[in-house]
Amino acid sequence: MNYNKKTVKDIDVAGKKVLLRCDFNVPQDKATGAITDDKRIRAALPTIQYLLDQNAAVIACSHLGKPVATFDSYVKKQAEKGKDPASITEEEWKKSLAKLSLAPVAKRLSELLGREVIMAADVVGPDAQAKAAALKPGQIMLLENTRFEKGETKNDPALAKAMADMAEVYVSDAFGAVHRAHASTAGVAAYLPAVSGFLIQKELEIIGGALANPKRPLVAILGGSKVSSKIGVINNLLEIADTIIIGGGMTYTFLKAQGGSVGKSLLEEDWLDYCNDMMKKAKEKGVKLLLPEDTICAKEFSADAEPILVDSMNIPDDCMGMDIGPKAIAAYADAVKDAGTVIWNGPMGVFEFPAFAKGTQAVAEALSNSNAITIIGGGDSAAAVQQLGYADKMTHISTGGGASLEFMEGKELPGVACLLDA
Ligand code: ADP
Ligand code: MG
Repeated sequence: MNYNKKTVKDIDVAGKKVLLRCDFNVPQDKATGAITDDKRIRAALPTIQYLLDQNAAVIACSHLGKPVATFDSYVKKQAEKGKDPASITEEEWKKSLAKLSLAPVAKRLSELLGREVIMAADVVGPDAQAKAAALKPGQIMLLENTRFEKGETKNDPALAKAMADMAEVYVSDAFGAVHRAHASTAGVAAYLPAVSGFLIQKELEIIGGALANPKRPLVAILGGSKVSSKIGVINNLLEIADTIIIGGGMTYTFLKAQGGSVGKSLLEEDWLDYCNDMMKKAKEKGVKLLLPEDTICAKEFSADAEPILVDSMNIPDDCMGMDIGPKAIAAYADAVKDAGTVIWNGPMGVFEFPAFAKGTQAVAEALSNSNAITIIGGGDSAAAVQQLGYADKMTHISTGGGASLEFMEGKELPGVACLLDA
């Protein structure tokens, strides 16, 4: 995939209507609907501010959560959950939609920008159309949740065209949604000149750069829960990395494949052969593949379980691996010391429990001390680095969990592929 794409700076937006796809999929309090973290809204500000400064008329849009776009499918979904279909009312469905309105986002965005954000009552309906037509340069409006339209997730060309018809230029800054081929993330680019905003630009520059032309040696640190959810990432990084470091829950399938005893650790029997193949392939390619020499395990999966240090190949039958041990920490820190680039996806242990966060913390510390370009991808990895206080010490923390994973898998991202090549 070509990661070199035109940006807002490569196109004239002055006085033009710009459809801006943002990622305003913010977490909300279940009971009150209040936005509990406005990080994603803040992340969109540089592009929005730039467009407004350029005197564009900004028509922002985003999805929020997973609304069910038609009453029929709502009834079906509720029935699957065991509800009596006859008891389900249209009112109840409409209430479920109202909970996922972007109106609270418009309010917060307005506070952050210090100017009015005009909220549309629909996506491409009469209210959105009228407000978009009347929108003046330097003004900003927000369309309603794009997933209120059933054509959104199906990438319906009619919906994409209706959105495009309101604007003259399309800017995508929703990195968190670029792995989805939806009407507002990809389809719309068929009808308008399409460029990236600053968020996507940075992701492409740093992650794309590291994948396409890394500063070597390239060290990939892979952890997290399962081998099976990281197959694509392992496959792709094995092709480009000089060293691969394994940690987290996926470790034990590798260890077992090597003839180790893993006790009650997370184990995926179906992937044992795959792990052996990967170790063989790494050897053939001259890629160093490191497994932890020692392991911190516990008798039960709990925050106050007693941490027990063991040799990784001999985890006792009544124990499960929870974190990498001190020898592994030293070896892994040494492996990243002289790296040119480090790509990290997946925590080294159950970092949510402080007693088992030491491996993840030590790796974060090692990265913060290295001169390498350091890139963190994956939702939980980003959360771990933030929670442990290393966020500002990294070169780049990807803003998209699923999107960054697919990026690292080397997959084509529809929301990027649809943008104009630079
Ligand atoms: P990311 O979101 O960064 O891609 P994953 O979703 O793959 O990461 O994995 C994160 C989860 O893996 C965390 O919740 C962490 O507790 C869990 N994990 C890490 N090590 C272990 C382990 N040894 N046993 C069980 N779970 C683990
Ligand atoms: Mg995750």
